[in-house]
Amino acid sequence: MTQTSFTPRVFSGIKPSGGLQLGNYLGAIKRFVGIQGSMETIYCVVDLHAITVWQDPKDLANGTREVAAGYLAAGLDPAKSILFNQSRVSAHAELAWIFNCVARVGWMNRMTQFKDKAGSNAEKASLGLYAYPSLMAADILIYHATHVPVGEDQKQHVELTRDIAAKFNHDYGVDFFPMTEPVIDGPATRVMNLRDGTRKMSKSGESDMERINMLDDADTIARKFRKAKTDPEPLPETVEGLTTRPEARNLVEIYAALDDTTPEAVIAQYPGAGWGTFKPALADLAVAKLAPISTDMARFMADPAEIDRILAQGADKARAIAAPILQKTHDIVGLLRG
Ligand code: ATP
Ligand code: MG
Repeated sequence: MTQTSFTPRVFSGIKPSGGLQLGNYLGAIKRFVGIQGSMETIYCVVDLHAITVWQDPKDLANGTREVAAGYLAAGLDPAKSILFNQSRVSAHAELAWIFNCVARVGWMNRMTQFKDKAGSNAEKASLGLYAYPSLMAADILIYHATHVPVGEDQKQHVELTRDIAAKFNHDYGVDFFPMTEPVIDGPATRVMNLRDGTRKMSKSGESDMERINMLDDADTIARKFRKAKTDPEPLPETVEGLTTRPEARNLVEIYAALDDTTPEAVIAQYPGAGWGTFKPALADLAVAKLAPISTDMARFMADPAEIDRILAQGADKARAIAAPILQKTHDIVGLLRG
């Protein structure tokens, strides 16, 4: 398939499925801020994805505002990026239905996130959880987004987005949807659970001790790092010494991402350091970087009407981009509209 040139445009989102955690910040939000200004950027609070598992309605509304507050506090600027919540722009759900008819059941069956989230009780999972990647493809492609900054766990879903775009283009004989690139870079594309270095840190993980929340206070952050699981060995002298030590590697990568440096530089700063030295240094760094953001988040959260106003204005801008793309999709498919 030859790809015509699409205007560079970034789309990404975070689910309001619980409080923001450090992985969301380092793997997503901090990188969203880094891209802002270099091209058009659209950042969404993906509330329709959150309800693929049960959400208490009151918590969902607050959670949506909390993710928005996180975006704003971390430096996303409504004058530079389009910030909105997904359910306000119905074109996402409309395009998702069309993509449900393009994507194949066999593709969905290969999605590891569904297997992880549905667990052993897949029969009882919602149909929405299963179809989630098709809605995610619609989130991206309704804006013809060319770049999607995400954590490593979302790579498979962005690849599926490309498969859906390619099949749509092929089936209808058009070159309408772009081949979106996942953007997965930096030292913290997969922040691991503090209690189990083989699982990623998640908002919805069961124990609070396994993650650093964006709104944790300094004492809580220090305690969680102190209790973080590690092997008994001190840090190695070179970064190669981390390859078979997932928990140690995770803490070094978190340090590197917070300090805008590399794991190599962190090891060079703390060669052979014991955990009694490194963990408190990491906690101090995390508090120094996160405290200003959490203070600002609290300030935004104290004015929910202002957050709602920003989200509503962002939705108006998003709708204006999505509407002609949805119209053209309907025309291509032969659905009467307008
Ligand atoms: P949930 O447990 O409900 O799935 P989550 O913490 O995984 O929540 P998502 O809303 O699914 O958060 O993901 C939002 C963004 O944050 C995505 O780009 C995802 O890749 C990124 N992300 C989530 N967890 C991590 C992590 N541990 N390390 C790096 N990036 C992450
Ligand atoms: Mg997730």
